[in-house]
Amino acid sequence: MAESGAISASRRLLQRLRDLMASTGDVQERLDQVVRLIAGNMVAEVCSVYVMRAGEVLELFASEGLKAEAVHLTRLQIGEGIVGDIAARARPLALSDAQSHPNFAYRPETGEEVYQSLMGVPILRGGRVMGVLVIQNRTRRAYTEEEVETLQTIAMVLAELVAGGELVSPDELGPGGAHPLSPMRLTGVAFNQGLAIGRAVMHQPRAVAHRLVAEDAEIELERFGSALEGMHTAIDDLIAATDIAQPGEHREVLETFRLIAEDRGWIGRIREAIRGGLTAEAAVQRVQDDTRARMGQISDPYLKERLADFEDLTNRLLLHLIGENGENVGLERDLPDDIVLVSRAMGPAELLDYDRNRLRAVLLEEGAIHSHVSIVARALDIPLIGRVSGALDRIEAGDTVIVDGDNATAFIRPGEDVQAAFAQSMAAAARRREAYAALRDEPAVTRDGVAISLNINAGLLVDVQHLDDTGAEGVGLYRTEIPFMVRPSFPNVDDQVEIYERALEVAGTRPVVFRTLDVGGDKILPYVAAPPSAQEEENPAMGWRAIRIALDRPAILRQQLRAMIRAGHGRELHVMFPMVAEVAEFDTAKEMVTRELERAGTGRKTQPSAVKVGVMLEVPSLLFQLPALLQRADFVSIGSNDLMQFLFAADRGNPRIAERYDVLSPPVLSLLGDLAAKCRTAGVPLTLCGEMGGRPLEAMALIGVGIRRFSMAPASLGPVKAMLLSLDVGELQSYMSQLTDSAAHSLRPKLRFFAKDHGVVI
Ligand code: PEP
Ligand code: MG
Repeated sequence: MAESGAISASRRLLQRLRDLMASTGDVQERLDQVVRLIAGNMVAEVCSVYVMRAGEVLELFASEGLKAEAVHLTRLQIGEGIVGDIAARARPLALSDAQSHPNFAYRPETGEEVYQSLMGVPILRGGRVMGVLVIQNRTRRAYTEEEVETLQTIAMVLAELVAGGELVSPDELGPGGAHPLSPMRLTGVAFNQGLAIGRAVMHQPRAVAHRLVAEDAEIELERFGSALEGMHTAIDDLIAATDIAQPGEHREVLETFRLIAEDRGWIGRIREAIRGGLTAEAAVQRVQDDTRARMGQISDPYLKERLADFEDLTNRLLLHLIGENGENVGLERDLPDDIVLVSRAMGPAELLDYDRNRLRAVLLEEGAIHSHVSIVARALDIPLIGRVSGALDRIEAGDTVIVDGDNATAFIRPGEDVQAAFAQSMAAAARRREAYAALRDEPAVTRDGVAISLNINAGLLVDVQHLDDTGAEGVGLYRTEIPFMVRPSFPNVDDQVEIYERALEVAGTRPVVFRTLDVGGDKILPYVAAPPSAQEEENPAMGWRAIRIALDRPAILRQQLRAMIRAGHGRELHVMFPMVAEVAEFDTAKEMVTRELERAGTGRKTQPSAVKVGVMLEVPSLLFQLPALLQRADFVSIGSNDLMQFLFAADRGNPRIAERYDVLSPPVLSLLGDLAAKCRTAGVPLTLCGEMGGRPLEAMALIGVGIRRFSMAPASLGPVKAMLLSLDVGELQSYMSQLTDSAAHSLRPKLRFFAKDHGVVI
């Protein structure tokens, strides 16, 4: 194939550059030769390299053309002068009249006043600015697009020398180019609390090309072609595999992916870079650096998504080129014993791919958190912070990270002082845990003899195992969707029987309350067909979810009930339905239980000794049908997480309003007090299984309004027990009776005051 002289010249230059860089000898001398070589090839009077040093400073490290005394003397802040500007924006600049540029900063020691035009490009590695490469010309020169590209390619090769640690100590090189390797604090939104320390593991490791300069462009073009083909096939296979699931969100994402993968501009630019002398992997990376620089400034969420798609695609392609036949090398890595997982987004199944004995915490960059990931994090009792913007850019694999889930803060590469403070908090937490463990066998009875039933929420077998170490009475909420979410396909009746049997086995004689599937909205099972409109739901929490799906697709619920009945043979079975909005829905669902029991009765298997059918109170409309409901339900469980969001019309996942309304407020407490009284009169057991019940002060107030049974995350049981052992319910009730007509925004300060005054441990 015929090629232009410029292309073969670029290739020759890259090869010479590589050889120069690889040669032995003084690194400064090599760098001096490098700038001389570039200046000659680019027909420029000046070629300079600025390297990023600690403290956001760009230092002139070598120059052909500028005064020698300026080398290692001239320093520019990020954003200062044209060079600083290039670093700040991570974008190339080509100026035929640099001195009239508003950012021009004249440094007398360089003698650069005689040079009119300037072209500079960032020295990027893995998307990070490591320095700036500049050429200058005495006369006005209009640099071409092609020349800019050539200089970018050279800068990429040069990045290896900078990253090699010979020029500046590796300690100074670090993420973001912003104060490299310095400690850093990142904040987000806490989805599960707790404190942990560990080493960063990138969920999807970023592939980095190390062989940059090619021997033979034809071979590289072929490698690129077959990697592209391999990737296309992999995506097609994925699409084909999801065909059975009908068009759904998953499929659409993949289709978009394929469209991008076929983007001619993108492919063309990569091929061009290969022809210019780069290896296939270096070319893919180079184009990605460029795309990132172009799109990085954009705030439009749609375009940001596209950038993320390109990042994913690049990574896949790089793994095809560097990894073994494109196999995901992700999980076969040597992982540390204390993993702080860092990812853009993640599903619960992916989280469970990791050894849970090593998992310490999770940081997610993505805005929307798959709610089941946080449930899994809760089940594993590890802190999870979401919406940590910049996490992927600023954290490097292997970095020490302290995750403070209580304050939604992550400390990256913490200094000794922070680590020491952290160690103290950890020790205190461990002491508290020991103290709680000592309470395990104490009966959960208040000082004035009121018995409180404490149960745990579960979804994984590990949770059920916590029955023993917490001393809980039973499982008050078994979220059946969790085992569904962590499987690659829909479990059939036999599989489900096994899941429920194992939970019942571990629980032994202690009761387990199974909640039927609560999926839909944001809790999509990847293998279940969503209706075409489901993904467009504007308010998924108020959309087609839970009992609504179960009643519209009765086969799923029937199978689930069948499996529960089979698993519960010979013992009392507890089933409850989520998100019921009206008694008629409960009736229909309960009717299905009756029918499944009848069906099971015709078989030979033993039946459950009794079946109790309950309802979750999560939708406020149901509160206005209490008399009818309490005649029908065997038990009621308050899902306060959902009930509060619907009561206050405040999205439970929206951090902006997370603090706006308080659960310890007059409307909530009077509503729950009223509900508790009515359930007691009707003789219907009432439990509260939302998060608020797991917080000591909240639990105290709930006991005050008459709630006697709770179900909570296993880790919350100790603190709540410690609280109730120190509580006198009579005193609390008389105190709270004075607050009934309060018009305050929150009763929290008063309740806290009561606790302090009466020695209640909160
Ligand atoms: C709730 O809504 O309070 C509840 C326990 O259910 P989930 O958190 O699973 O929606
Ligand atoms: Mg709920």
